[in-house]
Amino acid sequence: MQYEEILRTFEQYVMGTYTRHLAVFVRGRGCELIDLKGNKYLDFFPGWAVSGIGHCHPMVVSAVKDQVRKIIHISNNYYSVQQGKLAKKIIEKSFPGRVFFCNSGAEANEGAIKISRAFGNPDRYQIISMQNSFHGRTLATLTMTGQEKYKKCFEPLPEGFKTVPFNDIFAVQNAITDKTVGIIVEPIQGEGGINVAQKEYLNQIRQICDKKNILLIFDEVQTGMGRTGKMFAYQHYEIKPDIMTLAKTLGGGLPIGAVVASKKVCDVLSPGMHASTFGGSPLVCAASLAVFKAIEKEHLLSNVLKMSEYIFEKVGLLKIKHQIIKEVRGIGLIIGIELKCQGKTIVEKCFEKKLLINCTQGNVLRLMPALVVTKKQIDQGIGILDEVFSSI
Ligand SMILES: *Cc1c(COP(=O)(O)O)cnc(C)c1O
Repeated sequence: MQYEEILRTFEQYVMGTYTRHLAVFVRGRGCELIDLKGNKYLDFFPGWAVSGIGHCHPMVVSAVKDQVRKIIHISNNYYSVQQGKLAKKIIEKSFPGRVFFCNSGAEANEGAIKISRAFGNPDRYQIISMQNSFHGRTLATLTMTGQEKYKKCFEPLPEGFKTVPFNDIFAVQNAITDKTVGIIVEPIQGEGGINVAQKEYLNQIRQICDKKNILLIFDEVQTGMGRTGKMFAYQHYEIKPDIMTLAKTLGGGLPIGAVVASKKVCDVLSPGMHASTFGGSPLVCAASLAVFKAIEKEHLLSNVLKMSEYIFEKVGLLKIKHQIIKEVRGIGLIIGIELKCQGKTIVEKCFEKKLLINCTQGNVLRLMPALVVTKKQIDQGIGILDEVFSSI
């Protein structure tokens, strides 16, 4: 199919739920994408962090090739080698407990909600979430999401959710009632504009949760799997959650989500209470195991730390040079550049110069290069940003 024909097919047959840039991508490797016309792009926003260890990572490709010949899917009424191995790996890298597998971030958060409700049943059901959070697009997760724009047109919304300002411990305290069973936080708000949770804030939430037997849930769908230089972002803090949700980078490009539940709550769901037909198939679990292997064998966490220092230094220089930059935020390789103006044209101009980035909250440019990014690629990307900032 030729370029124009592909666009026409989308126009006619694919629902218009996304704004799309005019590119048809046919190949990806590491931080690079190739379009139908053979143009090469530098990808600093790899599939919203799904391709977090780079496009078509060789270890993921070989694990998938190997697995796909043997068995792709079996129902969760039987056992597979890969699902058990992956659960063990996730637990070894996080905290003692057990894992439930599903297929996306929203579904993982749904699982966390259901565990919380089952835990609180019959007296407690309410979950507190943060303003500017993002937890997914299903009815329950969008209700929990602290941004009104996602909820418009979809009322009536499910009950039992309350949103409070982020990084405000008093707001959390005031919102707690005898119906509260869970508090969900992203250690770093991604969609919300790269807002980092303060240490003291999370410590205090942990204390409140312990005191009142409330579950602390960390949504690490975006921040997990090495993005911040630790395997999970909460590991920058001295505390642990009761439940952690994962997706995006976890599958190395394949769809997977996981609810990681600590000892305290991992046996709340018994057979029949929750399920996912596709969840945790041998194929996606093999891919995910390869992601862990790549992070370990290629020392990607230490690469994140090195590249983080480098990119923050470079972005810092951009800030000195360009008045338009208001603030730079982030940890590891999740970087927010808050502008004094809207960021849409900058994203478009970067796209024209073949650099892929994102803008959230209208004025926060978001860079999330793959964990395998090199200094040379950072130089290239920052060079393009510099040109674009200079041109406006
Ligand atoms: C992307 C994201 C989700 C939703 O994940 P989907 O796979 O799109 O359902 C949930 N929480 C956070 C923090 C995210 O970044």
